[in-house]
Amino acid sequence: MEKKTYKTETHLHCSETSGCSAIGGAEFVRIYKDAGYSTIFVTDHYRRKRFEDCETEEQYRAAIDKQLAGYYAAKAEGDKIGVTVLMSCELHIGKNDYLFYGIDESFFYHKEIGTMTPEELFDFCNERGYTLIAGHPFRETREPVPHAVHGLEIVNASFNHYHHNNNDKALALAETLPNHLRTSGSDAHYKSDAARGGIISEKKIESAADYIEVLRSGNYEIICFPPEVDPWEV
Ligand SMILES: [Zn+2]
Ligand SMILES: [Zn+2]
Repeated sequence: MEKKTYKTETHLHCSETSGCSAIGGAEFVRIYKDAGYSTIFVTDHYRRKRFEDCETEEQYRAAIDKQLAGYYAAKAEGDKIGVTVLMSCELHIGKNDYLFYGIDESFFYHKEIGTMTPEELFDFCNERGYTLIAGHPFRETREPVPHAVHGLEIVNASFNHYHHNNNDKALALAETLPNHLRTSGSDAHYKSDAARGGIISEKKIESAADYIEVLRSGNYEIICFPPEVDPWEV
């Protein structure tokens, strides 16, 4: 009997929160269900401006509700149709983009993340048990800081960015860093991005801890469909 496997999307943006995305959380969940994924992480862009003036609980609450609107929409649909939806976030700082796994709402009460150096950000994550992944570490002008992340996106399968993500350089860097985690994501903003990246594992990923455990184990496969291939036809 063939072993059952599970697909997980690790990098996705919903239109409720990320202005650059064309698809809402509920629709994305339905698209990924059709594509056979069991789990998706919603990694909506962290907007510094959204949080910088927050002082009171009320202000934070309003900002967090906006920041997580895509996640909440995706989670509600996921609960209905049986897709596990997990909270994450993508932060652009300096020249790089960072993806956080293992966060909950308390993460967003730390507006100081918007002004940290890569090393401070890494310490912040280590103190709180978050896992920090460099998103598309060689896209265009990015300058990766491998000493300040736990892992690298060795595949970013975004339809529009695929050919300037320089995924080959990310893999080459990962080959020199045996203790770093390696992962793949679609960086989904449009239907054309969906289901091009992610990972396949025998373990069903139901939490960020499951995801990190699977990455650490090495017992998974990378999903990567370049723009020339239609993932819906294979
Ligand atoms: Zn975006
Ligand atoms: Zn992204």
